[in-house]
Amino acid sequence: MVLDLTKYIAAIPDYPEKGVIFRDISPLMADGAAYREATNKIVEYAKSKDVEMIVGPEARGFIVGCPVAYDLGVGFAPARKKGKLPRETVEAKYALEYGESALYMHKDAVKPGQRVLVTDDLLATGGTIAATIELVEKLGGIVVGTAFFIELDDLKGRNKIEDYDIFSLMNY
Ligand code: IMP
Repeated sequence: MVLDLTKYIAAIPDYPEKGVIFRDISPLMADGAAYREATNKIVEYAKSKDVEMIVGPEARGFIVGCPVAYDLGVGFAPARKKGKLPRETVEAKYALEYGESALYMHKDAVKPGQRVLVTDDLLATGGTIAATIELVEKLGGIVVGTAFFIELDDLKGRNKIEDYDIFSLMNY
């Protein structure tokens, strides 16, 4: 069955601030057939890249990446915000609209030379995914692709990760 996945994305005007249209994936996740179809598409993409490991940033990167890892029978490693990981970590800082933030991964989360797919729900300015890629590369992993449910074209996030392959299920 081929579903129109865009029907499962809610658009919330003026959230979290005026002028922004927030794209909400929760109706997609709440529908078993739609979530499975979105996941299956990313699984097929990952197979074409011989992915050995999946990495996703907190928190919706887990929602996209974990079922793909389960289906492929490969591992998943989280990139998390400060103070969430109990062992030794590597850090990557990135710019926010006001100020900066950082993501962390355990030092042994990815093995050198491992072929990694990086996942998140949505590509906006690209800051989050660029920081996640930086972490994987600090650990010696090879980022063979990036996958998203949604890409916001106007924010030009793909320019920030132009050296990497990008697979998006929906563009707005
Ligand atoms: P970026 O770092 O600017 O590319 O923003 C992407 C990150 O912010 C992702 O982790 C998303 O989960 C989150 N994000 C930004 N805009 C939206 C949105 O409209 N809907 C859902 N998540 C968003």
